[in-house]
Amino acid sequence: MSPKKRINIAIDGYSACGKSTLAKALAKKLDYVFIDSGAMYRGVTLFALENNLIAADKIAVPRLIELIDSITLSFGPFDDNGNRPLILNGKNVAEEIRSLTVSQHVSEIASIKEVRVALVKQQQQIGEEGGVIMDGRDIGTVVFPTAELKLFLTADSHIRTQRRFDEMQAKGDSTSFEAIQENLAHRDHLDVTRTESPLKQAADAIVLDNSFLNQEEQLAFVLKLVDSLLK
Ligand code: C5P
Repeated sequence: MSPKKRINIAIDGYSACGKSTLAKALAKKLDYVFIDSGAMYRGVTLFALENNLIAADKIAVPRLIELIDSITLSFGPFDDNGNRPLILNGKNVAEEIRSLTVSQHVSEIASIKEVRVALVKQQQQIGEEGGVIMDGRDIGTVVFPTAELKLFLTADSHIRTQRRFDEMQAKGDSTSFEAIQENLAHRDHLDVTRTESPLKQAADAIVLDNSFLNQEEQLAFVLKLVDSLLK
């Protein structure tokens, strides 16, 4: 019997659209590997902050480029919540990469060509065997341009802010609704307008506006698409 076909699934879209939540649920259902590419950009940002490469909102870009090969990123084993923590140079940084400080700088870091080249290379290696679900901003356009299934997620911006706000409150983070709203708008703007691999819908992507869809409905929608591709 031939081995079961394992496709790659690319999920792109704006910030806080529920890409990772959907990707994680899909990976569990299909027994695929889920990779949160945004966590990798957040890891590089945390590295830059910890090494004083960001001061007064200015990034020491040449120094960061010099150090890029000394940054080791990987995902650790599943924790109790079914997440795989990001490991930055041997240290579990799952919590730190979600801070507002990291969120405030990550999109500038992600606009640096050399950073993207280094991370895209690692992401493409992970996808070589198939069976990978990766979410981000350039997955369907740059990382996996031949992915069998490409999704482009979108949702009303107020709903997105509320979702992220609720998520942070549940974790005991007191960041205000307005600060989150401003951060999401700022990151979306930088992601869409940057020169290097800007966020855009791949020509063959399927758009999913999940403003009024719950997680089960989104999962069912995508599983139907996967089913028809695997037939
Ligand atoms: O997915 P998440 O919101 O955690 O990603 C953090 C940031 O990393 C995004 O706002 C974006 O600027 C950047 N990013 C990117 N390309 C990716 C994934 C994330 O530029 N593939």
